[in-house]
Amino acid sequence: MDAMYLKVETEDQRERRLESKRRYRAAHPDRCRDYMRKWRAEHPDYFRIYGKEWRAANPEKQAEIRQRWIEAHKDDIPRWRKEWEEKNPEKAKAMHRRYRKNHPDVTRDHARHHKSLRRARAVGNGIERVSYRRIVERDGMVCHLCGNAVATHELSYDHIVPISRGGRHAEDNIKVAHRLCNVRRGNKLLAAVIEP
Ligand SMILES: [Zn+2]
Repeated sequence: MDAMYLKVETEDQRERRLESKRRYRAAHPDRCRDYMRKWRAEHPDYFRIYGKEWRAANPEKQAEIRQRWIEAHKDDIPRWRKEWEEKNPEKAKAMHRRYRKNHPDVTRDHARHHKSLRRARAVGNGIERVSYRRIVERDGMVCHLCGNAVATHELSYDHIVPISRGGRHAEDNIKVAHRLCNVRRGNKLLAAVIEP
């Protein structure tokens, strides 16, 4: 006769079991990590299959975990990326191509940024690392030349003192402007384009 044994755990027992597990984990982080690593190596399909399902069903949690991971490894990621790109040049090229296609705005900003850097360097003006995201956060999407709202596809960045007139390529010398207003202004000084 088959013996059937069904273990039923009360809520209380479950809580105690989980609590002791948590304590063990906190006390032996290295041992737990080694164990997990070994378990993963022995069950390579588990996370590939179930991880995928879980991620699809929990996109917000997945994004949070990803963000935490990026935060924890932010000093290593650029180096890892570089190593990966050197080992997989073809894949990296295809990835960059895909990224440029999907993010035309970022690509345009990069091109503009490098052009500004080159010009600033050529005339020997100061150069600073510029965050365009920070400039938008500071100014809002408002054109500093005409004072009207700027839509994403009209967005450009204007040097308050033009580089050709000795202006620095630095955040405090860059403001949000319509692309059209920016082009119209050219390298004229602000006093010449803004009515007092
Ligand atoms: Zn404008």
